[in-house]
Amino acid sequence: MEKTQSGRPRTVAVVGTGMAGLTTAHLLHQDPERRYEVTLLEKRQQISLSAESISVPSKDENNSAIWADVPMRAFAGGFYQNLIRMYDYLAVKYHAQPFLFSFTRLPRPQQASLATSYIPGPQMVYASNFHQIPPVPRTVDLINWLVGAVYAVACYVWFTFCCFFIAPFEEDPQTGAPSETLDHYLRRIWLPQTYVVNYLLPLISSVCTCSHQELLCFPASDILAYKRRTHRQQHFVVTAGVQSVQQKLLQDIDVRLGVNLTHVTPQKEGVQIAYSTPDGQTATEHFDFVVLAISPDAAASLFSPINSQLSAIPTTTVETIAHTDETTIVPMLRATSSLSLKNRKSGFSSPTQRIHFFSNDSITEAVHEQPNSILVTTNPLFPLDKSKIIRSASFIRVLRSPRSRMIINSIFRDRSQRKVSPETWRSGDNGVYLAGGWCWDGMVLLEGCIVSAMRVAADLGVTVPWEGID
Ligand SMILES: Cc1cc2nc3c(=O)[nH]c(=O)nc-3n(C[C@H](O)[C@H](O)[C@H](O)COP(=O)(O)OP(=O)(O)OC[C@H]3O[C@@H](n4cnc5c(N)ncnc54)[C@H](O)[C@@H]3O)c2cc1C
Repeated sequence: MEKTQSGRPRTVAVVGTGMAGLTTAHLLHQDPERRYEVTLLEKRQQISLSAESISVPSKDENNSAIWADVPMRAFAGGFYQNLIRMYDYLAVKYHAQPFLFSFTRLPRPQQASLATSYIPGPQMVYASNFHQIPPVPRTVDLINWLVGAVYAVACYVWFTFCCFFIAPFEEDPQTGAPSETLDHYLRRIWLPQTYVVNYLLPLISSVCTCSHQELLCFPASDILAYKRRTHRQQHFVVTAGVQSVQQKLLQDIDVRLGVNLTHVTPQKEGVQIAYSTPDGQTATEHFDFVVLAISPDAAASLFSPINSQLSAIPTTTVETIAHTDETTIVPMLRATSSLSLKNRKSGFSSPTQRIHFFSNDSITEAVHEQPNSILVTTNPLFPLDKSKIIRSASFIRVLRSPRSRMIINSIFRDRSQRKVSPETWRSGDNGVYLAGGWCWDGMVLLEGCIVSAMRVAADLGVTVPWEGID
């Protein structure tokens, strides 16, 4: 990809300021040959990556701020190779973060009443990577707990074995059979249902922030690949919150906030975008290339050639609330009150953080205790004291299914490798590219943002500076 014949750099509009948009803009902007003039557009009045994060004064002498990332932006070795390389290249500080997970199964009446008084103590507590011996909840009889723990560990070992040695059925191009769902896979390996509903679904559905049923419809390959690659790997968080990543990625980039894209129209040369601004004005503008780093439902509504493909990709809305209402977690705190997390280091430089899961038959509420006494609840099942709510936010979460997997893979398939029907729109056709956590063959997490941004850069001939760094 060269400069235009007149020698001017090519203009690129990158739409969306999540991790995918910021990384794409950064990569194209840093092109050593300066071939791209990047404009980053965002419909909100803030850069979205850290828009909901909360800063609280720390208790140290300097009174510096501590950032609580909302939503969580944790990552782990193995799975997040490109994210970690990028952070290292940008000199972003991050640290290992051990977690303690408590699992509480809500009794049936709760599902009707939603009263916090129904919440029992946790049935089990689990330490990430077994980094410490988890406490035995006081509410559980020791013998029962031991039997439950042996059962859970045996199921976990069997599931882990299957992840490594029993491959999921992949899509069959001959018969057109789609890839295997998680539900089908779990039944095929005979993983006991009690373990599935009490532990596996609560844990993984809180990573994907979706309902249990939605998760069961994911391609099994997503979950297995995630498990294999994160197995025995540490979790990490960015020390100063993702706002520190945002600052670095945004350096010297032309950003325009409050620009809500309404249409993307390919032209003979380049691409025209139409947008509206908060003052009710509408306008059109021309760019050589457009990168849509937005969710698939939003992209489908803007750009007609991909409407039918992207409309088939499932999404959901997730609610996250940052607050200080401890009512929900009190039974858990009482049950394990001997545990002083603040002082417990477990060999890590950062104290263990607790995440509590409350599950009914269909969904899991996750409550994450942040070190600064803020609780972050995702998928709330219980009402919270309004006076204790600091901030609540909704996020679009892209889901996965064997069908959406097929569609996404065809959009990003290299024409030279496989036969692709000429009607299939592919990222890059008509000068329009797609990027986002969902734009790769895997779970919709930050790593997908980086991989898809790197793909746009590669397609436009730009070297990725952190590629090859180990
Ligand atoms: C509750 C929750 C917890 C999570 N926890 C983790 C975690 O711990 N680790 C992890 O790796 N991942 C996590 N994820 C997933 C991860 O955060 C997302 O996959 C990732 O942030 C998606 O980034 P993105 O850049 O693809 O899209 P987004 O962040 O959704 O950005 C899209 C941007 O496009 C803008 N936009 C949309 N339409 C238009 C338009 N018409 N015009 C202009 N702008 C537009 C939006 O305003 C937004 O800024 C979590 C997600 C949620 C919801």
